[in-house]
Amino acid sequence: MREHVAVLRALGADVREVRTPAQLAEVAGLVIPGGESSVMDKLSRLFGLRDPLRARIADGMPVYGTCAGLIMLADRVHDAIEGQQTLGGLDVAVRRNAFGTQLDSFETDLAMPVLGDAPVHAVFIRAPVVDEVGPGVDVLASLSDGRIVAVEQGRLLGTSFHPEVAGETRLHERFLDHVAAAS
Ligand code: GLN
Repeated sequence: MREHVAVLRALGADVREVRTPAQLAEVAGLVIPGGESSVMDKLSRLFGLRDPLRARIADGMPVYGTCAGLIMLADRVHDAIEGQQTLGGLDVAVRRNAFGTQLDSFETDLAMPVLGDAPVHAVFIRAPVVDEVGPGVDVLASLSDGRIVAVEQGRLLGTSFHPEVAGETRLHERFLDHVAAAS
């Protein structure tokens, strides 16, 4: 979370933390950080954020989800915990903790042509992968074995990995471009 705020501020954005529906109403876009998607799901319901978030997403608010944030944006989740819900919006199925316990965390350089020639240094931490994509979804990056790790649908952007801990700013720039286009 702190890293996202730092990257967005360095890019010149006015950044607020959103924990309540009133705070959500004041922002033009949202970054959903990593963490634990099942806990985020429970907390979003507890704090009355789930329905307002779903309404804003349906209304076209730009959102960038990293890792657990991508899971929250996915319409379908494989290996979810019992009763786990998502916000949805991205017509994808993601698989939680897709790299198992042996390869919990790793870093790699990914080709992501939509961001230019330089590869993205991607940090994966108990990360999901995208198992299925619907027809309206653009695949932005895949691992060398073909597993999909970055997707975009309209103004919703999701990555399995964390770019914000590695000094990468281009995904946040892309998110801010979506915010500018939407407002
Ligand atoms: N494994 C977490 C989940 O299922 C995601 C981990 C992360 O966000 N770094 O929500």
